[in-house]
Amino acid sequence: MHILSHEEKTFLLDAIRNVEDFPKQGIIFKDITTLLGNEKAFSLLMDHLTLRYENVPLDYIAGIESRGFIFGAALAARLKTRFVPIRKPGKLPYTTISEKYSLEYGVDEVAIHIDAFSSVGKPKPKVLLIDDLIATGGTATAAVNLINKSGAQCIEACFIINLTFLQGDLDIKKATPVYSVLEVN
Ligand code: AMP
Repeated sequence: MHILSHEEKTFLLDAIRNVEDFPKQGIIFKDITTLLGNEKAFSLLMDHLTLRYENVPLDYIAGIESRGFIFGAALAARLKTRFVPIRKPGKLPYTTISEKYSLEYGVDEVAIHIDAFSSVGKPKPKVLLIDDLIATGGTATAAVNLINKSGAQCIEACFIINLTFLQGDLDIKKATPVYSVLEVN
């Protein structure tokens, strides 16, 4: 386990660019490409996540499309474990199972391959879920439900940023423990 200092958290937050009014008016988009392009910030973040999870028994890391793929796959390689992509519908080529969730207007869906968690060859494999950011929490809650529905067990959901004013973590916490590296009020 590793705890980031206040200075380290500030350094990471400063490495993430705020883009106003993207993708629509009134949204401040947290652009993590600037963190990925900063080798000190990206390494500090990945070192922190590695130390947090290196002694946790994990069979898979599941990343949510698309920024969850970047952090999830990098962490899986460091921890010498397996990576599973959770994608938007219609993207995965083999047979899938999916979970719908509500948006402000309409519904969205996340999907995984039906055999995504079978390669380890044991019942109820342990899965860590990763995405870059919690906004309303809808995507991550659906992803946790999907992991659990597929016969695996989501042991924690991990995020780089939690937009705490939206309280999206409250919904996810009903389904699994939540860890976020950085909080934005
Ligand atoms: P939600 O389901 O509302 O928690 O939305 C989470 C997903 O939307 C994550 O995959 C984020 O990458 C993306 N997202 C939502 N709001 C933002 C934001 N302000 N900045 C960057 N990404 C966002």
